[in-house]
Amino acid sequence: MAVAEKAKRNVQRKRKPKLMAVINEACTGCSGAPICITECPVDLCMYEVKNPHAPVFNLVVVDPLLCIGCNKCVTKGPMDTLLEGCPWDAIDMIPLEEYEEKYGVMPY
Ligand code: SF4
Ligand code: SF4
Repeated sequence: MAVAEKAKRNVQRKRKPKLMAVINEACTGCSGAPICITECPVDLCMYEVKNPHAPVFNLVVVDPLLCIGCNKCVTKGPMDTLLEGCPWDAIDMIPLEEYEEKYGVMPY
């Protein structure tokens, strides 16, 4: 992702997206090199946390206030690989209505 494009998207969204990315239990953290984070166009939207079940590994988390539902984390891979999105199928794109039913209404 170009630095210039990332720089455009470093503030909270003003409108709700149609889809939200949610990381599921299959996330491995990609051994410390999470490709999803490099493909997300929104600065700081995806970030790593310690895996509570295996603290030597990380998991990725999506900030719901920053996700724009663009699908890039599930469709894009590094330019020099044949990967398309998460190799572990660990990212669920959930319709906003379903997301809000499960996690609560978004505050904007
Ligand atoms: S690409 Fe998939 S498995 Fe790798 S860190 Fe991202 S969500 Fe986790
Ligand atoms: S859907 Fe887009 S904004 Fe949301 S986490 Fe994936 S790449 Fe980032």
